Amino acid sequence: GKKIAVMTSGGDAPGMNPAIRSVVRTAIYYDMDVIGIKHGYSGMIEGNFEAMYRGSVADIIHRGGTILHSARCPEFETVEGRKQAIENLKREGIEGVVIIGGDGSLQGAEKLAEESDIRVVGIPGTIDNDLGGTDYCLGFDTAMNTVIDGVNKIRDTATSHERTFIIEVMGRHSGDLALMSGLASGAEYILIPEIKFSSKDVCDKIQQGYERGKLHSIIMVAEGVDEDLKPNRKKSESPAFDLSNEIEERTGLETRVIILGHLQRGGSPTAMDRILASRMGFEAVKLLRDGKNKLMVGYRNHEIISTSLSEVLKEKDKINHEIVELAHILSL
Ligand code: ATP
Repeated sequence: GKKIAVMTSGGDAPGMNPAIRSVVRTAIYYDMDVIGIKHGYSGMIEGNFEAMYRGSVADIIHRGGTILHSARCPEFETVEGRKQAIENLKREGIEGVVIIGGDGSLQGAEKLAEESDIRVVGIPGTIDNDLGGTDYCLGFDTAMNTVIDGVNKIRDTATSHERTFIIEVMGRHSGDLALMSGLASGAEYILIPEIKFSSKDVCDKIQQGYERGKLHSIIMVAEGVDEDLKPNRKKSESPAFDLSNEIEERTGLETRVIILGHLQRGGSPTAMDRILASRMGFEAVKLLRDGKNKLMVGYRNHEIISTSLSEVLKEKDKINHEIVELAHILSL
């Protein structure tokens, strides 16, 4: 039968393991050999390959992270690096690769397919949920639930102490995690990179809320938010701390900052992520079996679909503006 490989790349996301499991077991079901590539594109360049069997993916469906490990690999962004990777894949007899990762990983995947006769199919895996061609990326649902768990706990203490809490969540370029978990946790303000905001407005609203007798405010900030701070304030690494300083200065109200950080990357994948991963892995292998190339598997309107990588990588601004408005209305 055919020989294919599976790899995880870029930032890890809960759901990668159940996706690897699905790819391996589907391939075996269709009489294909499967190779695991370790450490993303670094492993491709170094020939860090390992044969995978049914048992290799036993007992991982509930685990966060990725048993194949992930990496960032600047060398793969060079033609020479990719040439070395292609040579290794050819020598191993690999005809197709399933690549699980985010935007950068899929850009690399497209180049790999363009510069060789090796076929690639991508699976969207990033808690940022910032890829085109799909409503959900693997890891997003788990990360949302992790953020919500955190906010629930913070709410308890926020109510007891009448404070403003600023919660910084991941998303350097995408505010989807902040937006959706902000809606689900009833945040008063959601600040995301896709939407300009004025920190003065935020301060004014907090002040007004306080005067109306509001006990606490939850402000959800994506780490990549465009900061609009008082002129001449030096930005720090964290928009949450910058905003906190500004609120205290303008309103005199005490604020607390919580940076959820890498908590959001970990944890056992939710039912939704496990099911999505299982379905996407299955579809990716079937596409390779059918000789398809340069596609990404996605999930739209409860169906598993596939879209060309070039189209996926072109799609920008995935923010649902109806949700932005809804979150605003519900927090008034
Ligand atoms: P996340 O969204 O979680 O950050 P990602 O897949 O976008 O995940 P990146 O660090 O952007 O993470 O990309 C992962 C790897 O993909 C890079 O380290 C590099 O090896 C490869 N890669 C990224 N962009 C390109 C590109 N333009 N051409 C070739 N390879 C690329």
